[in-house]
Amino acid sequence: MDTILVVNAGSSSVKFQIFSVEGEGQVRRQIKGQMDGIGSRPRLRAIGADGDPLADRAYPIEAIPDVPAAMSIAGEWLRNEIRINPMAVGHRVVHGGSDYDRPVLIDHGVVARLERFIALAPLHQPHNLAPIRSLLTNYPTLPQVACFDTAFHRTHDAVADYYAIPHQLHAEGIRRYGFHGLSYEYVAKTLPQIAPEIAKGRVIVAHLGSGASMCALKKGHSAESTMGFTALDGLAMGTRPGQIDPGVVLYLISEKGMSASNVQSFLYRDCGLKGLSGISNDMRELEASEDPKAKLAIEYFVYRIGLNAGMLAAALQGLDAFVFTAGIGENSVRIRARIADQLAWLGVTLDPAENSRHARLISRSDSRIPVYVVPTDEEQMIARHTLSLLLNRPSFNPGHK
Ligand code: AMP
Repeated sequence: MDTILVVNAGSSSVKFQIFSVEGEGQVRRQIKGQMDGIGSRPRLRAIGADGDPLADRAYPIEAIPDVPAAMSIAGEWLRNEIRINPMAVGHRVVHGGSDYDRPVLIDHGVVARLERFIALAPLHQPHNLAPIRSLLTNYPTLPQVACFDTAFHRTHDAVADYYAIPHQLHAEGIRRYGFHGLSYEYVAKTLPQIAPEIAKGRVIVAHLGSGASMCALKKGHSAESTMGFTALDGLAMGTRPGQIDPGVVLYLISEKGMSASNVQSFLYRDCGLKGLSGISNDMRELEASEDPKAKLAIEYFVYRIGLNAGMLAAALQGLDAFVFTAGIGENSVRIRARIADQLAWLGVTLDPAENSRHARLISRSDSRIPVYVVPTDEEQMIARHTLSLLLNRPSFNPGHK
């Protein structure tokens, strides 16, 4: 069986999935696994396509001190116990800067270019690159593909990606990039099967997970995003504040004496739903809580989504559909209903019964704006991109690895 390994490496976990290569460029998920607790309580867990458990084992902390070690243990498990030797590896890489508007086959030169973006995504990019480097060293002939969260947004009009700062800084890369692009791309590629006419029009997609953003799609291409230079901007998230006056950052430095790294950690880890509620970054806990601060955090989350939807509708000069995706968007009946209320002025009327049963179309038949729930699948997008780059390589010879 020809397979593709998809890797999504973070600071303390490496998520991986195995896809089999089917005919006509299609892929099918076979294994979903992760090594988490890296550097604290490492644990390898994996399930098969039907959810059947394949592995659940703990490791001593010294056996898996970092991401490359986790990658190597997971790789050994795949090779020696599951007998899988992937023909290629697709990686989720958060930042492709303005250089990359599509996935790329990795070599040492690509890694060097991607290292330049570490400062733009300090909590993600180094961990994304770590397994790439170790695989390049240990398996130099294994094709690796980098798939970027930023690439899908490179179709924006130039003006959309500027900040009003001196041009020289824009030229250096201080500009809006947008993130969650693999998720939006998956939704954009899925919509034509669900609603072909709407997919050709103006659609807002709300990716509401532990990270959250919204994307304005015009004819299936990204026209605008709520995220900018880093994944801090836009909507309130689990632990990130979303849009915040830069004056607040100056205040934290000048009046609270915080260093740049303190501010960084504060903005990425202590704000958002967690900071505002003082309870949790998990929407499920907030929904279950009677605490007024939990209610405020939810109200803020929903209110800002409404505001940003107005902004994106203006960017699109109208709206033909609204789509929910990711953890909160796919699962929370109540949050979807509250957001739909915020969007009533745009012509959204939800069907409560369809919303409760998580139907694909959750708006009423007379809603001027149809509202869909489209479960995202970033890993499948990465597997498809990886296969397509392999198939387009002149030297590619299927069956011979
Ligand atoms: P993601 O980053 O897309 O995996 O989304 C993770 C987030 O989705 C979690 O932190 C939860 O806040 C949220 N979530 C998942 N399931 C539910 C649910 N049933 N109700 C509300 N929020 C949920």
